[in-house]
Amino acid sequence: MSQLAKSFDTDVLVVGGGPAGLASAIAARRKGMRVRLVDGGIPPIDKACGEGLMPDALKALRELGVTLPDNAGGLFRGIRFVGDGISVEADFPSRRALAVRRTVLHQALVDAASDAGVELCWGEAVGDLGDAPARWIIGADGYNSRIRKWAGLERWRSRKERYGFRVHYQIEPWSEYVEVHWHPDFQIYIAPAGADEVLVALLCRDPHLRVAEALEYFPELQDRLADAPRSTTERGGISATRQLWVVTQGAVALVGDASGSVDAITGEGLGLAFRQALALADGLAAGNLDLYEIAHRRLVRRPTWIANLLLLLDGRPALQDRALHYLARHPQVFRYLLAWHVGELRNPIRYFDSRTAAALDGK
Ligand SMILES: Cc1cc2nc3c(=O)[nH]c(=O)nc-3n(C[C@H](O)[C@H](O)[C@H](O)COP(=O)(O)OP(=O)(O)OC[C@H]3O[C@@H](n4cnc5c(N)ncnc54)[C@H](O)[C@@H]3O)c2cc1C
Repeated sequence: MSQLAKSFDTDVLVVGGGPAGLASAIAARRKGMRVRLVDGGIPPIDKACGEGLMPDALKALRELGVTLPDNAGGLFRGIRFVGDGISVEADFPSRRALAVRRTVLHQALVDAASDAGVELCWGEAVGDLGDAPARWIIGADGYNSRIRKWAGLERWRSRKERYGFRVHYQIEPWSEYVEVHWHPDFQIYIAPAGADEVLVALLCRDPHLRVAEALEYFPELQDRLADAPRSTTERGGISATRQLWVVTQGAVALVGDASGSVDAITGEGLGLAFRQALALADGLAAGNLDLYEIAHRRLVRRPTWIANLLLLLDGRPALQDRALHYLARHPQVFRYLLAWHVGELRNPIRYFDSRTAAALDGK
């Protein structure tokens, strides 16, 4: 791209100030670059999200130097799967995870970006970039990215779409786990969003289904929530597992949902965006976006595997039932898979290594 030869009033222009854009701006700024971020919204920006920050997402946030307010959200120790007459859970190996309101996370990222010296321009939607005003352009403009189209990167390697809805209820969380309730055709998950609030998220293939209707299939959950007032209105969005062939073109790089995504059942969208942001800053600092292209491919591999594995159970009640019963009989397998999911074990085959299995069993 010709802009390399010009002089610019900023090194990096980030289009989109969601979690991915803000994290990328912070990471690039920490490498000494001048960074301008532009977003059509005004913070704190809310969005349909399950709001779960897995242990690896929290680790990446710490690496970015972002701190969340004390007592923000609700900690959880692992994941519980609940099926027809069966419940099985696994703890994260060493660290806890956190469910935190999207607006709280957004404000913490905005504050960190401002402290780092990012030039923040809110309320300015970017149309056609035309003569790009920066050495590097980062497309962090979410699911329907205009930058992706503008850069000619709209070529999908794979694409599976579902719908996601979330709403909060004022009620004391009843579990230290995020509970995933499996219906043959959809999942509801419950996360502790604070001392007296839970988040209820629905993931489904039917765009017309809503949380209240889905809860009718889970009478126990419905009873628990019957007297709890809703503290937010229901929000929806697309929950997709999709991969692009490439995420860079000339001086343009995509990050976060603009660069592909994993189904929300993984709880990995945010963590993935933060890790991409860190890798992208390394590529920008080296002046070589090929490094980011390679890192991006590596970073999406594990969450995509997990998304595909979990979605095998969606719409297949017999397989779902067999899988949940298998995990109940072999809880160490569930713990192992969860440890792999959050990046604390590298190779699933090592489950068969007796030392690893013993470590996971706490022996
Ligand atoms: C129902 C649901 C549940 C989920 N649950 C979880 C979970 O529990 N844990 C998890 O980690 N992930 C979860 N995810 C995924 C996670 O929400 C996304 O991966 C994450 O929001 C991606 O962030 P982003 O910054 O890439 O995109 P976004 O958050 O969409 O931000 C994009 C930003 O770009 C701005 N923008 C767009 N177009 C323009 C333009 N032309 N000019 C300027 N600005 C523009 C928008 O205003 C917006 O602020 C969930 C998703 C859904 C749908």
